[in-house]
Amino acid sequence: MSFAEARRCVLEQVKSGRRRPAVECVPLPEAAGRVLARDVRADRDYPPQPRSMLDGYALRAEELPGEFVVVGEVRAGQPCDVEVRPGEAVEIMTGATVPPGADAVVMVEHMRAEGSRVWVDRVLEKGAKVNAQGCDARGGAVVLRAGQSVGVAETALLATVGAAEVEVYARPRVAILATGDELVELDQSPLPHQIRNSNSWSLAQQVTRAGGEAVVLGVARDRLEETQAQIGDGLGYDLLLLSGGVSAGKYDVVELALARFGAEFFFDRVKLQPGQPCVFGRARGTFFFGLPGNPASTLVCFEVLARAAVELLGGCEESLLAVTRAPLSEPFRHKAGLTRFLPARLEEDGRLRPVRWSGSGDVPALARANCLLVADAEKEEYEAGEMIGVLAL
Ligand code: AMP
Ligand code: MG
Repeated sequence: MSFAEARRCVLEQVKSGRRRPAVECVPLPEAAGRVLARDVRADRDYPPQPRSMLDGYALRAEELPGEFVVVGEVRAGQPCDVEVRPGEAVEIMTGATVPPGADAVVMVEHMRAEGSRVWVDRVLEKGAKVNAQGCDARGGAVVLRAGQSVGVAETALLATVGAAEVEVYARPRVAILATGDELVELDQSPLPHQIRNSNSWSLAQQVTRAGGEAVVLGVARDRLEETQAQIGDGLGYDLLLLSGGVSAGKYDVVELALARFGAEFFFDRVKLQPGQPCVFGRARGTFFFGLPGNPASTLVCFEVLARAAVELLGGCEESLLAVTRAPLSEPFRHKAGLTRFLPARLEEDGRLRPVRWSGSGDVPALARANCLLVADAEKEEYEAGEMIGVLAL
């Protein structure tokens, strides 16, 4: 399966096979990163009255250019009790209500003031530097949709409309099961033939970032019965992520163990690198991913395939893989046939520089990268300066 087909498969399967998550109510500061469970409406017009965009003088645009008598002042945070009649102007501050009669604001820098008179030598359109009442949102209008996740702008908007309590979806609980006889825990000293389990912890962070609640299960050894028993536990969660044990090796027992639960496999090989033997399916009503064990494979396959499942199970309306493009700092070539996601650095000058690495087990290279370079499966050669895909990490 091509990478694009695999991604489409994940989106379609999870969208059609997911259950609606439970709804909980949280205080606004705890809603950050959560997914809205209800539409949110504006509680009144925004702005609630016509508002000045800058410090200056409010007047009638049709009288420009001209001379005006200053008849008062309006400040932000005070009710507006003056009216502007022909030949008059009112001094006004940013954010203050534009008085009735006035329809434009001239900035202080564009006028000359003397005593209670001002001269303006330019013309302005009606409405210049004024935000009309309700121009941002009308009272009652839906300003946020259920299924939208709460980022910084959404927090600002929720605060604006007075949503002290926010209804959000419960986070999906995601079980993480690493497999491998060579793995030892973080706090153990590995023997020369052993390594520490890093995938469970990188995955846990990725799951959290995607809005899930990560539950790290113990490491399963490369034996069918043991792996099967742990998979049995993992299938009790909303999603199961396995790492390792999905290649063609003699001791790669993950797929066999999953099959014992009557698993349906949607794919078990994808034309992407790193992570070609990536597996996706469902057993006992729970979706699972078998992510190849090399740390870069696990990281990439989660980011480009499994993250979408976490987001959709969390009630997100959409999951976006935001591949943008940037010019390469040097030529790049790869063997056609696989979509590649390789460690790279996006530099301050906007250029993308591939990071040297020794292969998908090279964790320090991943840490030197700040994004992934995305190379098209059909295109073998890229010249320096040529645009290539970039995926933020
Ligand atoms: P596998 O997919 O099981 O064939 O593993 C591929 C490579 O990834 C092997 O070199 C493993 O030692 C390594 N690996 C597997 N699981 C992990 C893990 N949890 N943390 C770090 N490396 C791993
Ligand atoms: Mg293994």
